[in-house]
Amino acid sequence: MKIYVITDMEGVGGVVNRSQVMSNGAAYEKTREWLTLEVNAAVEGAIQGGATEILVLDGHGANSAVNMLYEKLHEGARYIQGTPWMEYLQSLDRSFDGMFHIGAHARAGTQGAVLEHTMSSENWVEMLVNGKPMGEIGLCAAIAGLDDVPFIMVSGDDKACAESQEYSPDLQCAVGKYGITRHCARLLPMPVVHEMIGEKAKLAVQRAKSIKPFKLESPVEIQIEYFRNDLVDGIKEREGVRKVGPRTVLFTGDDIENAWRRVIGG
Ligand SMILES: [Zn+2]
Repeated sequence: MKIYVITDMEGVGGVVNRSQVMSNGAAYEKTREWLTLEVNAAVEGAIQGGATEILVLDGHGANSAVNMLYEKLHEGARYIQGTPWMEYLQSLDRSFDGMFHIGAHARAGTQGAVLEHTMSSENWVEMLVNGKPMGEIGLCAAIAGLDDVPFIMVSGDDKACAESQEYSPDLQCAVGKYGITRHCARLLPMPVVHEMIGEKAKLAVQRAKSIKPFKLESPVEIQIEYFRNDLVDGIKEREGVRKVGPRTVLFTGDDIENAWRRVIGG
């Protein structure tokens, strides 16, 4: 059983504000450790559930995606850190049997979700994919789905969990905190969160074969509303890239990967 793990930081237990997830934030170093411990709990649980190979991608943008603490990582997995990536879920392929999303956060605009955003809290207002709002959780589910890899486990706040169930109704959710407002949550003690992540990870691997990959209809249209006109002014219209408003661009591709490539192409 091969498991792919994408990590983020906003959904880690104990995280409620930006100073905890920005690399220049006063509390960032502490959050790195908390993230590492949650990843380790997931790796340990996955192994107990029967995983034989685990690849973990450090997915949070701060510090150029070097967030997990190398010296504290579980010996049972392999890890990717640093940027740039050559694809959105670096090194994910059809050989994997399931994907975990650890430390996930809800998409931009979700009420009561801790640090909700899609890609950039400063620059992006909203992303629609095939006409429906989608965030990073959905994007990961869809890109994994393209390789027939099911989305089998998530950890984060209650809103991230609910959002994940839209794409994979039977996945395992480890709800490590309950969002109250964007920068406020009801927390659970760390040992409780770690135990839950371990248990859910184990169950997720055991049940991976019963979970269907998430599939998007083709072609895929990604509409992004940016925060300011200048973010759009520099984008050139070309095949698959069309400006539909002063702050809004439509990126089209025959699948999510191709459409996404056009988004990051500028
Ligand atoms: Zn993040």
